[in-house]
Amino acid sequence: MNKSKRFLAEAACFLLAAVSLAAAISGEQGASLRANPPQERRDAREASVYFLPTLILEHANVVNPLSEQPMLDRTIVLSDGKIQSISSGLASVPGERIDLKGAWVLPGLIDAHIHPLGIAGARSMLSYGVTTGRSMFALNYADAGLRALHNRGDADIPTILASGYAVLAYPVRFKPDITALFLDHPALADLRNDDRIGPEGARRIVRANAGRQVDWIKVFANERAGVLETDPSTRNLNDEELAAAVEEATRLGLPAAAHAYSDEGVSAAVKAGVRSIEHGSLITEPTLKLMRDRGVYFVPTLSSFSLELAPNAPPEVQPLRPRIEKMLAAGIAATAMARRLGIRIVAGADTSYVEGESTAIEEVIQLASAGLSNLEALCSATTVAAECLKLSAAKGAVKPGLDADLVAYADNPVKNLAALRTPILIINGGKIFLNKLPEKDTEKKQ
Ligand SMILES: [Zn+2]
Repeated sequence: MNKSKRFLAEAACFLLAAVSLAAAISGEQGASLRANPPQERRDAREASVYFLPTLILEHANVVNPLSEQPMLDRTIVLSDGKIQSISSGLASVPGERIDLKGAWVLPGLIDAHIHPLGIAGARSMLSYGVTTGRSMFALNYADAGLRALHNRGDADIPTILASGYAVLAYPVRFKPDITALFLDHPALADLRNDDRIGPEGARRIVRANAGRQVDWIKVFANERAGVLETDPSTRNLNDEELAAAVEEATRLGLPAAAHAYSDEGVSAAVKAGVRSIEHGSLITEPTLKLMRDRGVYFVPTLSSFSLELAPNAPPEVQPLRPRIEKMLAAGIAATAMARRLGIRIVAGADTSYVEGESTAIEEVIQLASAGLSNLEALCSATTVAAECLKLSAAKGAVKPGLDADLVAYADNPVKNLAALRTPILIINGGKIFLNKLPEKDTEKKQ
């Protein structure tokens, strides 16, 4: 470089620095001087992925619930929100190193039956190490809203699959009040009466949900168990409405899940073509065999019942105790029978993750007490749940290429499921949500 060119280059550098400094002082973006144009920098999704630091988890014991043997003392490299590699020995890539000192790493837990209410509940869910949830009904598309926050890169919001409004025979009679359906969809207001929605009404509600880009359709084959006014053995949607709803969902490429208790309700939902049965407490062996033959998943939601029987349950559920006791005992028997028949069982806590409610952790523990092995119970909230939710390519295991959703525990949850109650590290899409490792174990090295 000759003298005059060097001078020009230095002058340009000085000029750039001066303008940058002026911009910094005035609080402006210095847009023309940045590598990225301001509109891109303002795009949160791009920013969060682009600037995500590489995380290197050292001395991790990796548990993939599908395999009996854990992988001991591994190094896991996470970048761009994905698991890049798992290896023995140390990785030489630059990034933030976290020494796990032999903590046990599981894939982030999946709860296949949640009722999202808002941001506080979503954060609470993540604080239990539950990094993915399938909404099985949410008012005002709170589930789709949370999904949007996660997708833009918000580290405190787990992955959410939305289902919006459930398809019900009588929307105006349902408890709790779900008439927000007619505020979100005034075009459906002619269904705001005392008549059944009928097959065409069922199709219209499915299409309204699909218009809001839901991931699943929830249908009610039976009435609710959790309120005194309704009998869970009574049908909600009839055969024609169920068939119409599931057919419309299938036509739109959406899987359906059925809330069902009675054997008749489960059987009708399975014949209509649903992918999963929620609750299913009163199911009999022939219907379970039908489920097995059609590859339908079973989400028994046991922990939501046992929680309602807890001594500190709210007083309004006391009159429901005899019913809940019956449902829980039947649900445990149904779960044991389903396991024996080889039906895939999925953890769903039927919860909003507000204080005092059940969690996927309690569901896993309850499934184990219903007869699943610890590994099988862990699969129900990881591998098998991911399969049910059609997310196996991204979730449910610790392997390269999958999403960097990880939870670490001081003790091995395979030996003791209660270890799930105290996560010490939670990583959501490659971002640290919780780190309770001692401070000195986390150091930044470049
Ligand atoms: Zn539910």
